[in-house]
Amino acid sequence: MTVVGQSSIDVAVIGAGPYGLSAAANIGASDRSVRIFGRPLQTWTDTMPAGMKLKSDGFASNLSAPAPGASLAEFCRDRGIPYHDTDHPVSLQTFVAYGQEFQRRFVPYLETADVQHVEQWGDGFKLTVGEGQTFLARRVVLAVGVTHFKVMPKQLMDLPASLVSHSADCSRVDRFAGRSVAILGAGASAIDLAAALIDVGATTTIVARAGSIRFNSEPSGRRPTLLSQLANPKSPLGPGWRSRFASSMPQAYRHLPDRLRLAILHRHLGPRSAWYLRDKVLGGANIFVAQQLEEAGVAGDRIRLKLRDESGSSKSLEVEHVIAATGYWPQVERLHFLDQKLRQAIRHSEGVPILSRYFETSVVGLYATGLTAAGSFGPLMRFVAGADYAARRISRHLEKTRGSRHTLVAGATVPQAIRS
Ligand SMILES: Cc1cc2nc3c(=O)[nH]c(=O)nc-3n(C[C@H](O)[C@H](O)[C@H](O)COP(=O)(O)OP(=O)(O)OC[C@H]3O[C@@H](n4cnc5c(N)ncnc54)[C@H](O)[C@@H]3O)c2cc1C
Repeated sequence: MTVVGQSSIDVAVIGAGPYGLSAAANIGASDRSVRIFGRPLQTWTDTMPAGMKLKSDGFASNLSAPAPGASLAEFCRDRGIPYHDTDHPVSLQTFVAYGQEFQRRFVPYLETADVQHVEQWGDGFKLTVGEGQTFLARRVVLAVGVTHFKVMPKQLMDLPASLVSHSADCSRVDRFAGRSVAILGAGASAIDLAAALIDVGATTTIVARAGSIRFNSEPSGRRPTLLSQLANPKSPLGPGWRSRFASSMPQAYRHLPDRLRLAILHRHLGPRSAWYLRDKVLGGANIFVAQQLEEAGVAGDRIRLKLRDESGSSKSLEVEHVIAATGYWPQVERLHFLDQKLRQAIRHSEGVPILSRYFETSVVGLYATGLTAAGSFGPLMRFVAGADYAARRISRHLEKTRGSRHTLVAGATVPQAIRS
């Protein structure tokens, strides 16, 4: 590692997805001593199926800026891209272009290096980035998104990568053309992947624990009646009172008992799969619902799955590849770039960080947003729609507490150079 003349900043934001860019844009508006790291929208460009459309409505897919004129609607209007708050699905391509434009406009100082290591250092943190450069930051915002938290069923964990992958590693499905593939899961990622596999001519099977696959309804173009609005209020997480509660009262969610909060987070799926994929997927894939995966094993150059339904009857399925579209779960232990002592110092419930009402972890000065904050603020944090709430709250708290801790450079614990 190189010897470093001690550079010290106020805030480092780690991650340049919707939450990191929104946080940096809001923090940077009042405090220029901020650095942000990561490749812009990398989860969206590298891990989502190309050709995907967003499940979230246009009005629920905005990044958060300190100035007006930064919404997805305005971006589309300025470029002549068709847009509607609710009735026109947003393409992945449009959303990525919007996010990249947002970055150039509000966070032009983004550094596209990864943060390799973070440890506590005096009253703040020492960060190692890129090829091993280090610097000090008084406060750190973790906006590291979803990819650290991939969930793989234990039955598949030790099987070779030629037979098994996670949906996050399947943004391109051409390699499955003409092959047989089983997808585990019935969420929106599973359905998007199934549609993409059908398009490339893969023999596609969906295996789901759920009893059915849920699609949203096709927009009718008519204004909803008062009765239907009352029964199914609109919300950024899809229609219904549960989604409405989750999106409008993230603070209240913090006060629910630990187990209930995590149970809701497990169960709340957010927007259903897109209506326009219904016919393709139901008509083009083999579908097994209400099935538990009991075992998985190698069978020659294929993989054999043993499934069991609620009545106890079992069946086996042999395919050339299995994709686990089994989601993401925010366990702090998975953030390997955080020093082990730092990870251990973060208060958690079943591994999921517990945050203050300002998104601060139990380590003073260490904040978390996006999925890492979902254990405290609920399902809203799993979607772009939560970025505004989180960014504003974090930036206000950083501003309020700016002078309240003595700075690292003044602290006696900071050496002039770091060697190793
Ligand atoms: C297939 C799929 C479809 C989805 N569709 C929707 C949708 O339609 N609408 C919606 O609202 N949500 C959707 N989501 C959820 C979506 O992922 C989140 O809403 C959104 O990405 C959250 O933004 P984020 O900034 O927290 O995370 P991310 O977008 O994951 O961004 C985090 C970034 O941090 C970077 N990073 C991580 N570690 C480091 C490090 N050590 N150093 C530097 N950078 C780092 C990552 O590379 C990544 O670019 C979907 C998710 C999936 C998987």
